[in-house]
Amino acid sequence: MRKPLIAGNWKMNKNSAESVELVSQLREMVPDVSEVEIVVAPPYTALGSVADAIKGSNIFLSAQNIFWEESGAFTGEVSPLMLKDIGCQYAIVGHSERRQYFGETNETVNKRLKAALKVSLTPIVCIGEVLEEREAEKTLDVIEQQLKKGLNGLSAEEMEKVVIAYEPVWAIGTGKTATPDQAQEVHQFIRKLITQIFSKEVAEGTRILYGGSVKPDNVDQLMSQKDIDGALVGGASLKADSFARIVKFKP
Ligand code: PEP
Repeated sequence: MRKPLIAGNWKMNKNSAESVELVSQLREMVPDVSEVEIVVAPPYTALGSVADAIKGSNIFLSAQNIFWEESGAFTGEVSPLMLKDIGCQYAIVGHSERRQYFGETNETVNKRLKAALKVSLTPIVCIGEVLEEREAEKTLDVIEQQLKKGLNGLSAEEMEKVVIAYEPVWAIGTGKTATPDQAQEVHQFIRKLITQIFSKEVAEGTRILYGGSVKPDNVDQLMSQKDIDGALVGGASLKADSFARIVKFKP
């Protein structure tokens, strides 16, 4: 049985005080939710204050990125142990905005993912095709490449700790959502690939989130799909009431 996971990626929004306000409102709206894992990913500068604000609650903390080295001369980077130390339990890896604007590749995704696992942070690994690839009917090829390269060298035991997020790039921040059928097709394909690479048991246990303009009015349909185990939410996670409604989806 896969526990649904709803994660909010705040991207480069909210200062420290605003972050605490948002997460405190959210905390009050979801106190009884135990059947869904709730995760928020504030910007680095607000991780410490949000960690304090969610103490003793059912909300978990994620970083939006993670570097693979432990320490040293890497100006501007944040190490896995620093994220653990500040209270993170999750790290988003390979978000399409990192791939698009900051040169993230499947190879660096693989390094970040392994670095997260090494310190027992749960990586949320993002994959997804751009519009031209979908239009050229290359979606499944792209997903296969991203998945095989991104997960390269992982043992089955390590894979059991990984969360995958399928985020069609054309649906992120655009208001265009993949239809539940389009999303389900890719999620099913991802699970099949995990079966091939690892085992059926590992694939059945892996949570595969959907991301791309998830909103209160489309989450129920998306979450009713067999292979959709949660959502990675951008824009709609910046308001406590809309994120709380997504957390309380009705499949
Ligand atoms: C995201 O940032 O991962 C995302 C899916 O954004 P949005 O929900 O705004 O499309």
